[in-house]
Amino acid sequence: MPMSADFHHRLSPILPRIAETFGTPFHIYDEIGIRSTGERLKRAFAGVAEFREYYAVKALPNPAVLRIMAEMGFGFDCSSIPEIELARRVGAAGEDILFTSNNTTVEEMEACLAVGGILNLDDVTLIPKVPSMPELICFRYNPGPRRTGNAIIGNPVEAKYGVAHGQIVDAYREARDRGARRFGLHTMICSNERNAGYFVETVRMLLAVVEEVQDALGIRFEFVNMGGGLGIPYRPEDEPLDLESMATRIAGLLEEFGRTHGYVPRLLMESGRYMTGPHGVLVTRCINHKHIYREYVGVDACMSALMRPAIYGAYHHVTVHGKEDAPADTVVDVVGALCENNDKFAVQRALPRIEEGDLVLVHDTGAHGHAMGFNYNGRLRPQELLLRADGTVERIRRAETADDYFATLNFEPEVWRG
Ligand SMILES: *Cc1c(COP(=O)(O)O)cnc(C)c1O
Repeated sequence: MPMSADFHHRLSPILPRIAETFGTPFHIYDEIGIRSTGERLKRAFAGVAEFREYYAVKALPNPAVLRIMAEMGFGFDCSSIPEIELARRVGAAGEDILFTSNNTTVEEMEACLAVGGILNLDDVTLIPKVPSMPELICFRYNPGPRRTGNAIIGNPVEAKYGVAHGQIVDAYREARDRGARRFGLHTMICSNERNAGYFVETVRMLLAVVEEVQDALGIRFEFVNMGGGLGIPYRPEDEPLDLESMATRIAGLLEEFGRTHGYVPRLLMESGRYMTGPHGVLVTRCINHKHIYREYVGVDACMSALMRPAIYGAYHHVTVHGKEDAPADTVVDVVGALCENNDKFAVQRALPRIEEGDLVLVHDTGAHGHAMGFNYNGRLRPQELLLRADGTVERIRRAETADDYFATLNFEPEVWRG
């Protein structure tokens, strides 16, 4: 199911007053839901000797939410200098920070090393560019034709990420020759995957690469990082990922590795979507109707608040506040105001009759939602709210203003005159 029944029961009775207080549109996130998923993840992996989630900051880069992750003991997977800064702001330090970038600059590597973060290198050509080789180094592995990827991230052969299979031993050799003494191995080859078996195979693949490098170089691996990409059911009929079965089978693989090799690497994960995706909704108000070749419901948010339907044709469940049980007897496109025809939250969707003023909820916007927003067409990104465990609602990011939009234009022009 999309939005959980619990979140719905907490939010629904207070939603009109929240909308009145803060205005629409807004994303609102559910602290209780985020914590319960985090605790469930920890319980599921309790059978793994040492497990740690590094929340993928890009999924929901808001300090109020990142602080909840830090309180649960999670680290942070960052891919840019501002993301490192966000993790720092909620108290992350040293190896709480993992830096997984690609097409990386020396400046970014320096920023990671300056805070003592774990540098996860995307390519062998970066090795000589590392300003000073840290003790602990990790490489992102791309299995190429050895694995198939999935729709969002694509086929590994076509993916720009990671070190190719034939380069991986040399990568660790060169890092060791330059002073690295502790080693990790990472991969990230799928996105929004709900098949538990896929992740089990990913860990099996990582452990096989560990064996190969270990045999060639005589080094031990401190950790393997299975990446993120854990999927959530966006459609009501989607089966959820069987987290517990996945974790148990992975624990079995690690145990087996331990029996053969006499040690067990730590297991890292850098999940984003699974942790927060279902625990956010975009709340927007119906402001217009239009009847041409199709029926259109115009709302006061647009793709600046949520890009996934436009970019990936992604399905997001839509409900109407107070009409959850009304018959879905109209077929409409729910649209924003952007001058792009793919600015639609729902296309040819059967929904209850929506009136002007109705609050329309777009579900599962707690990951890769607000964060992906943009300013094309002069459209501003909306505010973010957090429904706290005690029932209070906090504004955790204000809406952008015209001043924000014009901020990059307000300066004395620099001119080159030759
Ligand atoms: C985006 C990303 C993640 C998180 O992906 P989810 O699908 O949100 O779990 C993790 N690791 C890396 C390197 C990423 O780019």
